[in-house]
Parts: sequence; structure tokens; C-alpha cells
Amino acid sequence: MTESHGARLTIDLGALAANWRILAAQAAGAECAAVIKADAYGCGIARAAPALWRAGCRTFFVAHLSEAEAARRAVPEAVIYVLNGFPPGSADAYRAGGFRPVLGARAEIAEWAQTGRAPGGALPAALHVDTGMNRLGLSVPEALDLAGDPGLGAPSLLMSHLVSAEVAGDPLNARQVADFARLRAAFPGVPASLANSSGIFLGPEARHQMVRPGYALYGGNPTPERPNPMRPVVRLDARILQLRDVSRGETAGYNARWTAPGPRRLATLSVGYADGYPRSASGRGAALVGGVLCPFVGTVSMDLIILDVTDAPAAALERGAPATLIGDRLDVDEVGRRAGTIGYEILTSLGKRYDRHYIGDDPAAG
Ligand SMILES: *Cc1c(COP(=O)(O)O)cnc(C)c1O
Repeated sequence: MTESHGARLTIDLGALAANWRILAAQAAGAECAAVIKADAYGCGIARAAPALWRAGCRTFFVAHLSEAEAARRAVPEAVIYVLNGFPPGSADAYRAGGFRPVLGARAEIAEWAQTGRAPGGALPAALHVDTGMNRLGLSVPEALDLAGDPGLGAPSLLMSHLVSAEVAGDPLNARQVADFARLRAAFPGVPASLANSSGIFLGPEARHQMVRPGYALYGGNPTPERPNPMRPVVRLDARILQLRDVSRGETAGYNARWTAPGPRRLATLSVGYADGYPRSASGRGAALVGGVLCPFVGTVSMDLIILDVTDAPAAALERGAPATLIGDRLDVDEVGRRAGTIGYEILTSLGKRYDRHYIGDDPAAG
């Protein structure tokens, strides 16, 4: 454990690569892209993208131009799509970087057709159709209307996004799958993509030519109703700064939100909300000390968390001893649940203050 940082964040690039292979196999013939927006879900795009490339991934999705530029530095030969499209007037920057915007509005399509085309012909871009999210993309009627428009050219990808893919039985899935199939028929020959991580597990009708997993690559469970088929990628180990014994009636933390129900042993950890660990985990989060789940007490503060370690083995309780905040039983999904959020937010909030270690990378592997 590091002396100069509060906690060690370990990112297993071997597990990341293995997860891509699992998803590529599950996608059964569809191309498996990788979504690496938000700094590869907090894991670090500069290390994650090359590891995915070496595993065999060739197409990457980010949200913004700045992320596309970081992706280009990490994987120079990759196909890079920008999910949020392009802001007015920025087509040149996309062309210069060889990025493919995901176009989702008529005005955007028109501007791209005018200024985004390379001198020698059409420049590829994806067409995003909204089949239920009401967030980004053309409506289905708009897209069907546009399909016959020769000014559109041939998009390099036709895509839509699932609303509730992680809830396998949600009727919205079947509705979106059907609408997307209808849409595809109007764009013959254009490769199509619908599935995010969870969508890959909804069956062949959702997979088409390309799948776009993000969360599952980083170890999140794409099938929350079933055991997690993915390998954990992220691990967070903090250090016990101090131990103290409190008696019944004593309180702990800001605003005395916790009162000892009896004699308890408390440990203070060197992680807080300034590290991106959510304050909403106050009173319901936990850490593993000596393999025992120890609950948080009081509020998560900026740099510190207090644990009730009364039930932890005495041998695991000393100044400097480790406590696991993410890892083993406390996977990212569980940490998210305990913070009243989702694992996605846990990953994308991972702070810059940790001592980051990358393991499992094998640059020689092809
Ligand atoms: C973020 C995102 C994905 C990846 O979703 P996961 O649930 O993380 O697999 C795929 N497609 C679009 C359009 C997205 O915004």
C-alpha cells in the first residue's frame, strides 16, 4: 500500500481485454466495438484503449471531440465515433481528426453533408435514430423520410440505443428491437448497431452488425438478474489511519449522525468524497477488512470514512492495514447499490487522487 496516497486504485487491463473477448464471443459474429467515453468509464483511456485494441477491438465510441482526440492518441488506427455528434461549426475538427460523428438531427446532417465531406467524397458518419429514449437522434418517421433522400449519402452505421436493456423482461426491449428492424429495412446495406452491454445478452435480434458495450468491459454486470459473467477490472484498497474504541452513546462523524449502540471499535479510512467516493454511501456503504464486511458509520467526509470494525478479525486491525472499498464481494454494482446509485456512476466518478496501478497488461500480446 502506498504511503503517499490515501488509497490504491488497481485497474486490471488483462481482465478488461478478457471481458472484451467474452463480449465479442457473446456477440457471435457481430463486430464488438468498445465504448470508452468518460475516460474509459474512469479506468483511463490512455491505457484502456490500447489494451482493447490489442485484444482485437477496432471501433471505439466516445462522447465528445476532446475524448476522440485522446482516443486517437491512444489507438491511432482505430475507427472512432463521437456519440454526441458535432456542435455547429466544428465539422472541420472532426474531419481533421478522422472522427465519425453520430448524427442525430436534420440540421446536423445537412451541415455535415456540406462541410464534413472530404474533398474526394463522402465522409463516414453514423446516423442515430431515437426509438424510445427521447434524448438524441432522429425520430423513426424522420429517419424513414430521410432514407430516400439522395443528399444523405450512405451512413457508415445506423444506430439506436436501448432504454432498459438490463431489465431483460421489459417490453420496451421487444418494441425497440422491432422498430429498429423496421428501420433497418429502409437502409439496405448499412451496418446497424443497437446493443449496449446488456443488449448483447438480449438475443440475436438485438445484435445486428455491431455491438457497443461499455459498462460490462469494465466489470459491471450486464445481466443484473443473473450472476455476473464479466471479470472485475477495478479494485480500490484504502488504508486504516486510526483505530478507536467508543462506548454506548458516543457519536461519530459530522453532525453526530451515528450513535454507538454499545461498545464498538471504529477504524478511519483515508478515502472520502473528494476521491469520488460518493457521500451518499453514508450510513449504508461498507468495506472489507480481513474478509469481513464492515459498515460505514456517520457521514462520508471529504478525505475520510469511518467504519465499524467490531466484527473484523483482530489480526486485520492495525494502523496501516488495508480495507477494500471496491473488490471481491464489493463489486462495482454492489458499491453503487449501497450508495443509492449505479455502478456506472461509481466507475465514472473514480477520482484522480488515488495511487493508480495498472496490472495485467501485455503489450506483446497481439
Ligand atoms: C454509453 C453508451 C453505450 C454503452 O452503454 P453500456 O450500458 O455502458 O454498455 C452504448 N451506446 C450509447 C449510445 C451510449 O451512450
